[in-house]
Amino acid sequence: MKIKEYMYQEIIYEYKLLKAKQFNVRMDETFPQFSWLRRRLTRGFRINQEIYIREDARIGLNRLILHEIGHILGYNHTWKFTLMNPSWVFRWLKRF
Ligand SMILES: [Zn+2]
Repeated sequence: MKIKEYMYQEIIYEYKLLKAKQFNVRMDETFPQFSWLRRRLTRGFRINQEIYIREDARIGLNRLILHEIGHILGYNHTWKFTLMNPSWVFRWLKRF
């Protein structure tokens, strides 16, 4: 596990980069209520102030981190085409 930093609006947020296998174990423990498919498609999640990112998440990594910061800031998922869309494919706008 590597700890990285990401700055958003002058605040530094830490996120933990986990290898895919470790990430899946964490995911299964944390979200047993999710379907297996959802747990495997998820590339990042947050527990309280802690952000976990799967190491092989490359496409849209920046937006993924911002999405998780959005959760820390109190934003919930939306189906609008913004950062808080649960699917990385639809995170077109860089605003919460
Ligand atoms: Zn989310």
